[in-house]
Amino acid sequence: MPLRQTFTYRIPADMEPGTVRPGRRALVPFRAKLIHGIVMTEPRRAETDLERRARFLAGYDPKRILSPEIQGLVEWIVRYYKAPIGEAVKMALPPGLLSEKEALFTLSARGADQARAGDAPPELAALQGRKLNRRAWAKAAKADIRLEDIRRWEDEGLLALALQGPERESVPHAAVAALTAAGREVDPETLARARKQKDLLLWLRRRPGGLAPISEINQVFARGGALAAQLAKRGLCERRRVPKYELEDARPVVAPEPIKVLTPEQATALDRLQSSLDRRSFQPFLMFGVTGSGKTEVYLRAIQHCLAQGRQALFLVPEIGLTPLMRRRIVDRFGDRLAILHSAVGAARRAESWANVLAGKVDVVLGARSGIFAPLPRLGLLVVDEEHDPSYKQNDGIRYHARDLALVRAHMADATVALGSATPSLESWRNHELGRAELIRLEKRATRAPLPKVDIVDMREEFRVQRRRPVLSRLLMTRLREALDQGRQAMVMLNRRGYHSFLLCRTCGETVMCDRCEISLTYHQTDRTLKCHYCGLTRPPPEACPACGSEMMQFFGEGVQQLQELLQRELPGKVVDRLDRDRMASKDAHHRILAAFERRETDVLVGTQMIAKGHDFPNVTLVGIVNADAGLRVPDFRCAETVFQLVTQVAGRSGRGDAPGTVVVQTYMPEHYSLQCAANHDFLAFMTRETRYRENLDYSPYAHLVSLLVTHEDLELARESALWLAQQLDRLRGKGEMTVLGPAKAPIGKIKNAFRFQIVLKGHKRAALHQVADAVVEEAVKRKILPRQAIIFDIDPYQFF
Ligand code: ADP
Ligand code: ZN
Ligand code: ZN
Repeated sequence: MPLRQTFTYRIPADMEPGTVRPGRRALVPFRAKLIHGIVMTEPRRAETDLERRARFLAGYDPKRILSPEIQGLVEWIVRYYKAPIGEAVKMALPPGLLSEKEALFTLSARGADQARAGDAPPELAALQGRKLNRRAWAKAAKADIRLEDIRRWEDEGLLALALQGPERESVPHAAVAALTAAGREVDPETLARARKQKDLLLWLRRRPGGLAPISEINQVFARGGALAAQLAKRGLCERRRVPKYELEDARPVVAPEPIKVLTPEQATALDRLQSSLDRRSFQPFLMFGVTGSGKTEVYLRAIQHCLAQGRQALFLVPEIGLTPLMRRRIVDRFGDRLAILHSAVGAARRAESWANVLAGKVDVVLGARSGIFAPLPRLGLLVVDEEHDPSYKQNDGIRYHARDLALVRAHMADATVALGSATPSLESWRNHELGRAELIRLEKRATRAPLPKVDIVDMREEFRVQRRRPVLSRLLMTRLREALDQGRQAMVMLNRRGYHSFLLCRTCGETVMCDRCEISLTYHQTDRTLKCHYCGLTRPPPEACPACGSEMMQFFGEGVQQLQELLQRELPGKVVDRLDRDRMASKDAHHRILAAFERRETDVLVGTQMIAKGHDFPNVTLVGIVNADAGLRVPDFRCAETVFQLVTQVAGRSGRGDAPGTVVVQTYMPEHYSLQCAANHDFLAFMTRETRYRENLDYSPYAHLVSLLVTHEDLELARESALWLAQQLDRLRGKGEMTVLGPAKAPIGKIKNAFRFQIVLKGHKRAALHQVADAVVEEAVKRKILPRQAIIFDIDPYQFF
């Protein structure tokens, strides 16, 4: 429940002692409903008479599901983020455990006897021989089943509760064609007269595990399903159904990693982490190592050391699905001592992994943001890889930051915590400057490869020469052809989804907007529709301008779909593939795209920022960045930092193997310091420059921020209540201690029909700042200035649109 308080319940005298313990689930009446609750404290004898208080119906779970560590973290979150405790608990547990599904009712032995004898009230008789939830029971009894009656019958020992376990979602399966032993061994020439079957056989042999989903075979081969059936008739393959996650785990065919000798920098880094582990006290490290400096190897060995101490480790990465290589390395190293916690595998499997962690069956957890809630009881080491990545910040519900929670958890567990990045966040850098985190530096690439040479192309100049607004510069095309001719691969980033970014009327100048959001619609070539990237609205492009009726409509702006098409046209005979959110419709799509790139079946991988994330493809020697400055025009004080990080990270994908790499950055703002510093691989120069700006304008990490976003379908209500909030904040803010910015219409003034107004509060005293913001919001809700759901309350915000 979105409530700030906990509730007290009476334990029935006849309830088995010891059933009700902290961290266990209980079924309790709440208002007119029965709901799942979590016991938060040891039960104690009531000093006052609790007779009239609601009482327990059942406590269950043979062991605690909210472990003491996670309960501690939850309580911290409740205090710091001013979060409703029930929501915080729910967030920390896998989905389904607190599902609102009601309990099932049955008759107790005594109740059954009475019912058989015809002595039971008709409602109870309706339960005979059945287990029903309250609704079904009411239907069967053709009567309302009231809570008081339930309690009375339970008191009288007539009724029993059968508890529903966590919901079991069935694991999604896919049909595959898999080679049989005969299929693996047969001489393909025996199929010489059935050329298509031979092609499919050879293709399957190149697939990890010798299998592929039928759906994919159908994409690659005409009438692929029928072909597979013909192979099956010959006994060369078979049709099976396998869980989709197994496909995801299927390993591309590559040689296992050789054991490496650490570089001197890696050895020093490892040594410092190990000494800290040996001290068994809280110690944060900021591991600032250039791209390719071999941070992963250091993490993995530190984890081994931690396990050897009998402790456990938590390894967080921004997005597990996007780093199959890293994941494979961890799986190889820790095998069945490892659990992977992430949402893409589906609730059932996640709940299972989580249960394994809780039961102490694993010692290493690999997870994304929500992995921070892994219930490891003996945590010794936490690794937050790519700690600067904004995806560690949750942008809905309780807006926590997993990197910050990692520090909190490490503190509670006396653990070592390593925050690693080639482009540390200014927040973490500031922590190092204040002496709160020790700095570990890795300045060279582990493979001894030099950092790639970065060229910045001034697109204004390209415009003059090419005489039209070009998407691709001459330099990028020349370099691409060179790299591919040498058998190398390339990655090209354009951080914009879709084909065209907007549709414009040439008569009146209007762009076609979403009906529900103040944002222009993006054209997607694949299904020839306009899409809203904020609310998902999809519609065919209008024939005429919705504003003036003119038919002179034209598409503008290039998206990554168009880039793929352009490159494919320019590079005939080469394979150009694309990685972006629109290709992630099926859960393992991105995995397949990356695996094909790794096996060098793809020559050029085009994508949004998704291609920047930690990938290690040694054959990539060229990286192109198409619209490097797009991110500089967004209304966010972190935009220069984000662009610097993104450009440095994508650039870092180049030249990681034996051959040196190059990078081409296209921009209309070539002088911008974020691009210049990224080109020079100079984090310190960037940080110095950016720090000055943040300090002068009083932004994070020099001031603390809270953002309040009012969203409501009623424009007046949204505007007025934002104004009220700002006035109250202004009244309470104290002399010179806090600044109130706004209220102002948010940069995107409307999303899904809700108008949006923004207030940002800044200050140097964190606790006072949070307290004032919270008090004003509570007051607004209490006085019914606006409903609670209309305020998005964000402590340490990262999103400003
Ligand atoms: P980072 O995470 O710092 O960007 P990675 O951990 O991905 O870097 O390592 C970059 C590359 O260097 C990988 O291909 C890895 O196998 C290789 N590598 C790491 N350590 C060593 C070492 N000691 N000797 C040789 N190669 C190494
Ligand atoms: Zn028009
Ligand atoms: Zn929309």
